[in-house]
Amino acid sequence: MRILVTGGAGFIGSHLCERLLNDGHDVLCLDNFFTGSKKNIAPFLCNPNFELIRHDITHPILLEVDRIYNLACPASPIHYQYNPVKTIKTSVMGTIHMLGLAKRVKARILQASTSEVYGDPVVHPQTEEYWGNVNPIGIRSCYDEGKRVAETLMMDYHRQNDVDIRIVRIFNTYGPRMAICDGRVVSNFIIQALKGEDITVFGDGLQTRSFCYVDDLIEGMTGLMGCEGITGPVNMGNPAETTILEFAERIIDLTGSGSQIVFRQLPSDDPKQRQPDISLAREKLGWKPEVGLETGLKKTIDYFDELLKKGQEFPEVA
Ligand code: NAD
Ligand code: UDP
Repeated sequence: MRILVTGGAGFIGSHLCERLLNDGHDVLCLDNFFTGSKKNIAPFLCNPNFELIRHDITHPILLEVDRIYNLACPASPIHYQYNPVKTIKTSVMGTIHMLGLAKRVKARILQASTSEVYGDPVVHPQTEEYWGNVNPIGIRSCYDEGKRVAETLMMDYHRQNDVDIRIVRIFNTYGPRMAICDGRVVSNFIIQALKGEDITVFGDGLQTRSFCYVDDLIEGMTGLMGCEGITGPVNMGNPAETTILEFAERIIDLTGSGSQIVFRQLPSDDPKQRQPDISLAREKLGWKPEVGLETGLKKTIDYFDELLKKGQEFPEVA
């Protein structure tokens, strides 16, 4: 099949491109390189089945494709808050453009949604039935509300125009190819630990997250795309929940670092708890994560360690 991956030069997108190429598909990777990097996709450039398109999905584009994975959107708080108007435009206008394309060429389209649609959840763990607790006017809203509108658009194009849709709600995912300057907790803590710098825990560190290794997510996303009779939304994540403080201690342990933990101000609207209920994905897709936190973190630490050894400049983490 000919498959379009928007945001294909980003962290998850590049793993998805790699998987689709390995499965024998033609891959069109579309990216505006806001947070993505050519380094992530450099190994695929010599593959005749791979094409790279520099484009911004806030503008329409005409392509002939069979399937679309719509991943284009900055995902780290520091990046999506850098230009919040652009962030919400990317989710709203970008998704309209991708849905218009899907409708025209009759392509199946999968939207990368997020656990952020649950906001600061009062239902725990989060099931797909839960409608969420999102602040519509806070600093995270450009991302959270943008993704919620993107889900609405997906459902309306499906009901009104019969577009073949899939929605995946992705929970915190990590792994190699996260950007050094990404600013999310996994890359921040690992880089700080490898450099022997203070590990910056925001707030008291008692807020929780559940971290999923990228290979598991890719398996789930491609499974959902290939599955008949389900539109989603479907939660995908690893239910193993940890506090951020425990997570910092774990990174210190795994890296053997002498770093100290320091506490910094908690950004506003930071969700207090997050854990996916993945019963639906288990039942409908037979999917569950296979990679444990320690195994996944070791691979991620090795990735950043390798960059360090190659003499790559590590900028201050965000
Ligand atoms: P990322 O920042 O590494 O990747 C996003 C990619 O989209 C980048 O390559 C960026 O350059 C590109 N992009 C951004 N705006 C664009 C635009 N207007 N036009 C074209 N390209 C654009 O982030 P990621 O972690 O790989 O996230 C990928 C997707 O998965 C995002 O939609 C994100 O919301 C979603 N998601 C990720 C996580 C996670 O934990 N990583 C969790 C929930 C949802
Ligand atoms: N966090 C932290 N130190 C950092 C970066 C993040 O303590 O250097 C915290 C952040 O406040 C949040 C959690 O780690 O509670 C996860 O943050 P991230 O930005 O990775 O993802 P999100 O909040 O979107 O789940």
